[in-house]
Formats: sequence, C-alpha cells, structure tokens
Amino acid sequence: MKILVINSGSSSLKYQLLDMESESVMVSGLVERIGEEKGELTNKAFPGTDRQKVTELDQPIPDHNAAMRLAIDLICGGDDTICSLDEITAIGHRVVHGGEDFHKSTVIDADVINAIEANVPLAPLHNPANLTGIKVAVELFPGVPQVAVFDTAFHQTIPPHAYMYALPYELYEKDRVRRYGFHGTSHKFVAGEMAAILGKELSETNMVTVHLGNGGSITAVENGKSVDTTMGLTPLEGLVMGTRSGDVDPAIHTFLARNKGMTIDEIDAMLNKESGLKGLCGMNDMRDIHKAIEEGDERAKIALGVQTYRNRKYIAAYMGVLGRVDAIVFTAGIGENDDIVRSRSLEGLSLFGVKVDEKVNAQRAKKPLKISTDDSAVAVWVIPTNEELAIARETKNILQ
Ligand code: ADP
Repeated sequence: MKILVINSGSSSLKYQLLDMESESVMVSGLVERIGEEKGELTNKAFPGTDRQKVTELDQPIPDHNAAMRLAIDLICGGDDTICSLDEITAIGHRVVHGGEDFHKSTVIDADVINAIEANVPLAPLHNPANLTGIKVAVELFPGVPQVAVFDTAFHQTIPPHAYMYALPYELYEKDRVRRYGFHGTSHKFVAGEMAAILGKELSETNMVTVHLGNGGSITAVENGKSVDTTMGLTPLEGLVMGTRSGDVDPAIHTFLARNKGMTIDEIDAMLNKESGLKGLCGMNDMRDIHKAIEEGDERAKIALGVQTYRNRKYIAAYMGVLGRVDAIVFTAGIGENDDIVRSRSLEGLSLFGVKVDEKVNAQRAKKPLKISTDDSAVAVWVIPTNEELAIARETKNILQ
C-alpha cells in the first residue's frame, strides 16, 4: 500500500509518498512560491537512504495544479520511475479546521468538501489552501480514495467547560465561537507512541503532550483523549510562539485601537506575525536566541524566559487538570532539539515529583528518549513527531 500525503498551503505544496508496508518515505517534496515570478521545488527520492536522489527546480509554477503535476512527474514519470500512478492506493490531506463537523479523519466526498468550505470563516488562510490541494488531487487522481485528516479532530473530545469562552452564549450558538485547538495530528501521534512505549493502551494513559515548533501548543490527554489544549478559536491562543503572541489580555486590542489608532487588521497581523519570540527580541528561531544569549543579548534572555515560563505554567496547569500523569512528552523542532527549553519548562515541577536527568536531557537523539530519572514520579520523554506518517496511518486506517 502506497499513500501520498499532501499538505497544501496558500503558496506551497508539501508532499510525501509512503510505503505503508515498511512505513518508509519513498519521496518527499516541497514546492514553494506558487504563483510568484519564480517557483521552487525540491524533490527527494528515497530520502536518507543510499538511493537518495535530490532534484531541485527553479521555474515559474503558476498554480497548485502545475505544482502537483510537477510532483507527479517526478514520482511517476521519467526514466527512474519511483512508482506508477496506479500504485498510489490513497491520498491523505492535511486540513487545518474541521470545526465541530469532524471528530475524526474522513473519506472526502462532495459533502465533506462543502463542510470544509463552511469552516473557512474559522481558518480563512488555511482551509481555502487545503481545499485547493484536495480539488487538484481529485482532478489528477480520479478514482483514488482521498481522506481528510483534520488538525482540530483530536481535540473534539474537549468538554464544554474547557472549550467555552465566557462570552455571550449566542456567539457559540450562532457563530461557533469556542476553543478548538490545533496540532491534533501531532499530539495524537506522540500520545500513541508514548502509550506504546509505556506498554499501555492509549485509552488507559494520561499525559501532557508539549508540541514546540515554530507554532506551539500543549495538550492534556486523559485516557487517550484530548481534554484541554492551549490553542483556541485560532492558533494564536496559548504559548509564546515564533511570531505569535499566545495569551494576551483581550483588552490589548481596545488599547491599541484607541491609543495608537491601529485597525483590526493591523492588530491581527501584529499578534500573529510580529509578536512572540520575534516581537520580544527580533529573532524567532530558538537557535539564534541561544546564540544571542551567549553573546549577552538581554532581550533574547527575556524572550527565552517568557517562552519557557508560559510552557511551565501550562504544563503545571494540565497536571492539575489530569490529577494522575503517566508522562510528559516533548516534540517538534524545539521540543525535540532544545534541552535548555525543556529543562526550563519543567522547572518547579518537582512539586509533582518530576525529576529530569540533565545529562540525558542534553543528549540529542532522533528517536524516543526518556529524559526523567528512574525515580521521577512522572516519566518525561522526547518523542519525534511525524505528521506525514500520522496522516498516512489515519488514511490507511479509515480505508480499512
Ligand atoms: P513548524 O511549526 O514550522 O513545523 P518545526 O517543528 O519544524 O516548526 O520547528 C521549527 C523550530 O524549531 C525553529 O523555528 C527553531 O526555533 C526550532 N529548532 C529547530 N532545530 C533546533 C535546535 N537544534 N535547537 C533549538 N531549536 C531548534
């Protein structure tokens, strides 16, 4: 069984072809700058193996249809065909917002497309781009089953006391204003991996999963189900991220409008693109921030402090929410690679019996690593996320 995974953005298309027998990547690729004067494509066949072949193209790529055709040519055309078109069993699509309509991954049909469209107001940048990818794939792969895997679906088990905002109730009833949560595919994936490592059923496992990439969120997982998460109606709520503010006093909007004459769009752009680590110290990559701290940059120090303190507050809050915690799991770019962020995010959790083995924590592994001491009351693990594999597994499971 070969599954093509597609993550379609507004001007980019990420794809990966997986052989599900071995769960290995046959091809991974990224098309960027779609619709711009010059597009870019990097295609890696058999990445990380001795058969690896990298193709880079630099040419105008007018739209997603052209992008997908280029990818198909590299996968299924030419002399060294990687697999024939009819070998592709199914296609899994990442879809950002499923609103309250999707509690799990779903085979795509006309009704599903309409429902994703109906959720566009909740994700005005992402859902239209995801839909473009779906429509192009349906056109280019007629008859191949296509599955939508939603970032929000895993969080649909969150109970009302955690998903409701204390706002006039009609806003929920009429406009579906509530907390949804994102990164669900990643949280679910690492939760599943963690349960397997612990030798437990996912449905018997409580954990706090900490996804820290350019975007970041933390989830409380009770008996295998998400019961709270830090992102809300949009991915802006919660943690301090690369360029997103995370939690702020909602009255900041009014303050900025009244005192600085900023428009809603300006405030929105500022909170999403000019805030977070970048807003605090001008850098949004944690590696640059550590380097700057070493060189004595005070604002970089503050940025690291604000980010890790927010992580720590939410981890502690979710430990309180869960009562019993089997494991804390760190994942994604920062979570997997940054021992300093992990260590500072766990400071003070000795109250819960959390003990980190700093020697092990300082190690870098591309595979699951336990960083807590053997006598820690709660196990702390680093588990690499793999959203493409998670989407491919979901796609396979739905079709079976
Ligand atoms: P995205 O949310 O874009 O998927 P990733 O999960 O790939 O993000 O994480 C990207 C971030 O991970 C980078 O912005 C960088 O801050 C951080 N990162 C990556 N490698 C390292 C590293 N070795 N040490 C610290 N931070 C890292």
